[in-house]
Amino acid sequence: MYRTNTCGELRIANLNQEVILAGWVQKARKMGGMIFLDLRDRYGITQIVFNQEANADLCTQAEKLGREWVVQIKGVVAERFNKNSKIPTGDIEIIASELKILNPSETPPFTIEDETDGGDELRMKYRYLDLRRTAVRSNLELRHRMAFATRSYLNDLNFMEVETPVLIGSTPEGARDFVVPSRMNPGEFYALPQSPQTLKQLLMVSGFDRYFQIVKCFRDEDLRADRQPEFTQIDCEMSFVEQEDILNIFEGLTKYLFKTIKGVDVADFPRISYADAMRLYGSDKPDTRFGMQFVEIKDLTADRGFGVFDNAEYIGAICAEGCAAYTRKQLDEITNFVKRPQIGASGLIYVRYEADGSIKSSVDKFYSQEDLKKWIDRADAKPGDLLLVLCGKTEKTQKQLGELRLEMGSRLGLRKKDQFNCLWVVDFPLLEFDEELNRYFAKHHPFTSPKLEDIHLLDTDPGAVRANAYDMVINGVEIGGGSIRIFDSELQKKMFATLGFSEEQAQAQFGFLMNAFKYGAPPHGGIAFGLDRFVSIFAGLDSIRDCIAFPKNNSGRDVMMDAPSVLAQEQLDELHLKVELPRK
Ligand code: ASP
Repeated sequence: MYRTNTCGELRIANLNQEVILAGWVQKARKMGGMIFLDLRDRYGITQIVFNQEANADLCTQAEKLGREWVVQIKGVVAERFNKNSKIPTGDIEIIASELKILNPSETPPFTIEDETDGGDELRMKYRYLDLRRTAVRSNLELRHRMAFATRSYLNDLNFMEVETPVLIGSTPEGARDFVVPSRMNPGEFYALPQSPQTLKQLLMVSGFDRYFQIVKCFRDEDLRADRQPEFTQIDCEMSFVEQEDILNIFEGLTKYLFKTIKGVDVADFPRISYADAMRLYGSDKPDTRFGMQFVEIKDLTADRGFGVFDNAEYIGAICAEGCAAYTRKQLDEITNFVKRPQIGASGLIYVRYEADGSIKSSVDKFYSQEDLKKWIDRADAKPGDLLLVLCGKTEKTQKQLGELRLEMGSRLGLRKKDQFNCLWVVDFPLLEFDEELNRYFAKHHPFTSPKLEDIHLLDTDPGAVRANAYDMVINGVEIGGGSIRIFDSELQKKMFATLGFSEEQAQAQFGFLMNAFKYGAPPHGGIAFGLDRFVSIFAGLDSIRDCIAFPKNNSGRDVMMDAPSVLAQEQLDELHLKVELPRK
């Protein structure tokens, strides 16, 4: 028997028991005639004591132990003289009588402690050691519990987990596909699924009725903190449902996870239309942990000789509570923030509503105190508050103001990690116009159903057509999204035509789906959650990487395995691939 107990479970109640523990040496210290050793496994840390006087040989052996050696120890549970209230086993220690070295270890490249001395790259390279740290491991434990609870909730509701293939055909879904060359079919490629979208719809045609899958998806996009080339979705689809049914079931799942995993009761999710989200927050994933909604003041600014405002399509303001006393330096900081190329505003206008009721602004030259008071009233500002104003093209400016709102929310400490504000964003536009390519794209994906009452606009004003599409947002993060699908092959054909597919192209790429729809497709719809983001929100992480066992770095590399990597010529030949390296 390797062990009778884990390193996390012994307590005073176990006094005088003879036990065997196995684990890793966290650290060892010599004090007088004693050696104290912290033995660690997944469950915790237990202190082991070797006593020179009682057993000199054993002590000599223990002296050799280094950090991260794997050992097995036999001994008796004793009450500790110096108790450690910081760990659950802190009242006891094991007086060792036997020691067996199971495997020595080289000195690890960084300390296996909560506060480690290892930098990001080093920890990624030795991820298996990083995963020994409680801080990292606990994120994966949380992930496991969330996935497990999800399965249990959905299983109880008759959802059936079905595996769909990972080698599929390339279909445009918004991002670039990762592709895999086929050895047996020279010159042909599989694609890795960006999501099992079409497959889960086919399962509905098969009558599966309620499907889910916790599934890896792949998108060849540029990476950010909340993106990885491969990520995990909780992917779901249901038949004979309307939007309302889906929102209820998956609001239920989310509440269930909050309750069972975090012990948090979250309120019913408010619903906001896409149009209102943009108008009030400049974002389709508003962080509603704080207010600071936009107010429009264009009508209050006309004809005072301030050309910038007169020429602006949109003028919007937010009220930063208690910020009237901002210094020049602080105002410069936020001005520079909105002027950063990623945000792209040309400038920022402010109005201080001083604590004494006087008003000072950066546009005093053009606007009287009465003018400015009207802006202040519209924003419902109180003495001591600061108005921040941006202007320009409507959509662009709303997005900029949205970024500024988030920045101010962070500066004011209003984005607390232990507060959870969930909501649904509904009524997304069906299509999005790409100025560069001069054509419409599906905002969600080409299988999303337009709202029936908007279908007549498809030919005349496609941009105005709303979709039966919805996103779940928590704390400003899009956690999930889905839609009611088109299930009529004629409407699906029309949709492809609107998206600029010729009939042949549509047939070549999606013929299998449109054909399936000819054989009695039920009305259906679904949703997919980003599990990595979901876990990150629960764990309060800044990056999804921290809840993924073996993540890629920002350049999409696995630095531990050193992937991607070049292939041997024979392998390339077998795959009928010719590789021309870019010239350095
Ligand atoms: N397949 C969609 C996505 O990955 C989700 C859905 O519509 O169910 O975003």
